[in-house]
Amino acid sequence: MFDKILIANRGEIALRVLRACKELGIATVAVHSTADADAMHVRLADESVCIGPPPARDSYLNVPALLAACEITGADAVHPGYGFLSENARFAEILSDHNLAFIGPKAEHIRLMGDKIEAKRTAKRLGIPCVPGSEGGITDDAEAFAVARDIGYPVLVKAAAGGGGRGMKVALTEADLSEALSNARTEAKAAFGDDSVYLEKYLQKPRHIEIQVLGDGKGRAIHLGERDCSLQRRHQKVFEETPSPALNSAGRDAIGETVAKAMRDMSYLGVGTVEFLFEDGEFYFIEMNTRIQVEHPITEMTTDIDLILEQIRVAAGNDLTLTQDDIKFHGHSIECRINAENPVSFRPSPGKILHYHPPGGLGVRVDSAVYQGYTIPPYYDSMVGKLIVHGKTRPECLMRLRRALDEIVVDGIETTLPLFRALIREQDIINGDYHIHWLEQFLAGGGMDPEPSK
Ligand code: ADP
Repeated sequence: MFDKILIANRGEIALRVLRACKELGIATVAVHSTADADAMHVRLADESVCIGPPPARDSYLNVPALLAACEITGADAVHPGYGFLSENARFAEILSDHNLAFIGPKAEHIRLMGDKIEAKRTAKRLGIPCVPGSEGGITDDAEAFAVARDIGYPVLVKAAAGGGGRGMKVALTEADLSEALSNARTEAKAAFGDDSVYLEKYLQKPRHIEIQVLGDGKGRAIHLGERDCSLQRRHQKVFEETPSPALNSAGRDAIGETVAKAMRDMSYLGVGTVEFLFEDGEFYFIEMNTRIQVEHPITEMTTDIDLILEQIRVAAGNDLTLTQDDIKFHGHSIECRINAENPVSFRPSPGKILHYHPPGGLGVRVDSAVYQGYTIPPYYDSMVGKLIVHGKTRPECLMRLRRALDEIVVDGIETTLPLFRALIREQDIINGDYHIHWLEQFLAGGGMDPEPSK
């Protein structure tokens, strides 16, 4: 097992990793930018090192500074959290060159899944169902027109290097395709420095359902069920739940086993998520995330498995001792991502938290790094915390969520809490009847207007 883990991240995920390390008796090193000197992860870690000025490229993405921090503190492993360097294969290799463990998958698998064209090819080879589309990258427009005619409109042009919903353009008809191609290429070049794109059938009203996996890199791998992340704004997840209201346990076992087998075949190491669109009872692979995800707690609530603790164990070379039969799904869990944003315009709202009262009680969990008097810096993403609830059934879970949303207080900044308070009053949400465009349609229809900001 590792002796000391450096956490190359900030915010709630840094705290989440710290908690797992403490339970395992592993010493922790926090790193921080000058903007985060007062952050909770710095206060709770055993040691901390300032690694640079506020912009992430100079601090949380600054590899030489992170290596120096490992050297100074004697850390023997690095946990990257999510975002920042978590899906950077080169970073994993550099750590290995310095005899430091990367708590994540093998570099070759990060690289493979980071290229969405290669990822799709691999998924197909491993027997995972994919969205119909181009076989590989699209190099000239004529080829794109031929593929689109073949799969039928509407089509989606996607960036091979895509992430965070960027570099994705819909062409509803043939007349839109040239523009969609050039816009996707321009956006992909600007965001990722790579303008390779590919084509997919654009599914009209799918759900986003993803499967959580865990493997030990030696051929043992299991799945931990699904998460329904269909409620999205600008392709970013807002509210997640498990189990999916659209799936029964036989459906879950079938797709889960397909995915777990694929992970065994590739000897996948660590935690990962295989993402699908789900429409008319069919699953279509879209991508794999080779890291812990923001929404992992809902899986923890319904399986009682600490995913980060397991991730650390297998990264240290331990065999996966959990078997599929050990995973007993129970109850229902929902997560709300609380952002420091205006709930109607979604304009970021950094600033000082004047009052903070996290909700509590049975089945309520808050993963957050904020505290009363904390000032949210403007440099990083706007998520301030996650409210996670669990209940024996979906109605009980919703009941608890309603109560927890009434109880939570985050004053001094604007947050997206009013959005969740409005959402859980909607009949479609109560019925679990929604798809990936539901939230944007709700927002466009003025769904938020009657609710005063609170
Ligand atoms: P990113 O890596 O940028 O997050 P993904 O491939 O995971 O991109 O897709 C993000 C979201 O975009 C999905 O959850 C879904 O809402 C939408 N999307 C992706 N592919 C398709 C598709 N073929 N048809 C319809 N919507 C899609």
